[in-house]
Amino acid sequence: MSDDSVLIVEDIRVMAKLLESTISDLAEVRAVDCGTDALRVARDIQPSLILLDIVLPDIDGFEVCKRLKADDATRHIPVIIITGLHTETEDETSGFALGAVDYILKPFEREIVRARVKTQLELVRGRRELEAANKELAYLAAVDPLTKCFNRRYFLSAAESEIARMKRHGTELAVAMIDIDRFKSINDRFGHEAGDKVLANVAEVCEHSLRREDTLGRLGGEEFGIILPATDHDGAMEVLQRLKSRISHQVSVIARETVSLTISIGLTDVSGDDGSVDDALRRADKALYTAKKLGRNRIVYEPSTPADLPPSSFPMHDPHDGDFN
Ligand code: GH3
Ligand code: MG
Ligand code: MG
Ligand code: MG
Repeated sequence: MSDDSVLIVEDIRVMAKLLESTISDLAEVRAVDCGTDALRVARDIQPSLILLDIVLPDIDGFEVCKRLKADDATRHIPVIIITGLHTETEDETSGFALGAVDYILKPFEREIVRARVKTQLELVRGRRELEAANKELAYLAAVDPLTKCFNRRYFLSAAESEIARMKRHGTELAVAMIDIDRFKSINDRFGHEAGDKVLANVAEVCEHSLRREDTLGRLGGEEFGIILPATDHDGAMEVLQRLKSRISHQVSVIARETVSLTISIGLTDVSGDDGSVDDALRRADKALYTAKKLGRNRIVYEPSTPADLPPSSFPMHDPHDGDFN
């Protein structure tokens, strides 16, 4: 049997039993005999479908339906109203208006109940599969297949949102760019496929060295970006030092040769109103370039506001002015 379950809400015991035996091979069945229990159990077990009687001892079925549809936790569950009332179109329309998907009249034909329940369960399954497929698509659109970390496009949009959040909260944010040192030689010595494995491995070590709230993305080739929200220079340095040392201590075994890797990192921060993703990445890239020039295997920091502003941008004091005497 499937994972589907149906909640039967019916106060007349024989009627409940009859319904249950009619559909028990289609889904797991749970039965309750009043409106209060219906609302509670629907929230708890999240059934795939509810068969709802109208005349109940406490809250009537229309009201139960209304409350189910007003609650975020239960509004998605389809409801079939089962009524022995003289069913006037008025009743039917009010049920549909309240969000019921179908109506079954008592006394009912068992085959009709089965057919209608089956239809609703199939729709539920279809919806579930569609949701899963959409999730899968969203995942594929955001993730780099080789390294399983975010791809460039997703990383840039995440950086955009993090910077916006930083501005709202008035916190700091660090942005880092990583490039593997002399990666070409790995490919040259061991082949592209081995290089791919090393790349995936580096991404994994990076991911494990970061906090949950940090974002790692592959910017392209053997280059990665990291966003560290609510992190100042010292905090970022600590995280990146740890990451860098883990990578260099992680010795990959390729084709029975041990290979050790190093990375270079460019770090910058974003604060205040002036932060843009492009500017931050430009600064991080500049710092990374400097790290390479200085001999690789190091972190270079490029502040968002240069400490050494050109003299002309400082207010000039006349040395003969009283201030300095
Ligand atoms: P540097 O220390 O200056 O960064 O030297 P490098 O060799 O790492 O830098 P360079 O930019 O010259 O070469 C990067 C190499 O990364 C070249 C390219 O073949 C390799 N590469 C880029 N993307 C991939 C990939 O997806 N898989 C593999 N195996 N190699 C890649
Ligand atoms: Mg009843
Ligand atoms: Mg590179
Ligand atoms: Mg490189």
